[in-house]
Amino acid sequence: MFRRLFGLDKPASESSESNRYGIDTDSNYCPECGEEYRAGFDTCADCGVALISGIKKLDEVRQQDTGPSSYSMDISTDDDLIAIHTGKLGYIKSLQHILKSEQVPSLLASENASKG
Ligand SMILES: [Zn+2]
Repeated sequence: MFRRLFGLDKPASESSESNRYGIDTDSNYCPECGEEYRAGFDTCADCGVALISGIKKLDEVRQQDTGPSSYSMDISTDDDLIAIHTGKLGYIKSLQHILKSEQVPSLLASENASKG
């Protein structure tokens, strides 16, 4: 169990992507509940549906995961905004730059705009 969690069974280059999603391509997965089964099982004991291979599961997860490159940096009215810091504009902008590099959208707002 722990051996697999730490990816010692395979060379890092081979397992790095499946590890990223926590999917073992040697195992089978239930498409309904996501339960992992060892190779040899072909039906989910809980759902009674046919299992899919870890390779297929990884493929599906990969398609669902659009990745950080296409992650929307736009802030819409649906987003909950949290004030995380207040301070001088230059300092805030440097913080915003850090957030942006971490794919975290942020917004600059002036609390005392009316005061000038
Ligand atoms: Zn299931």
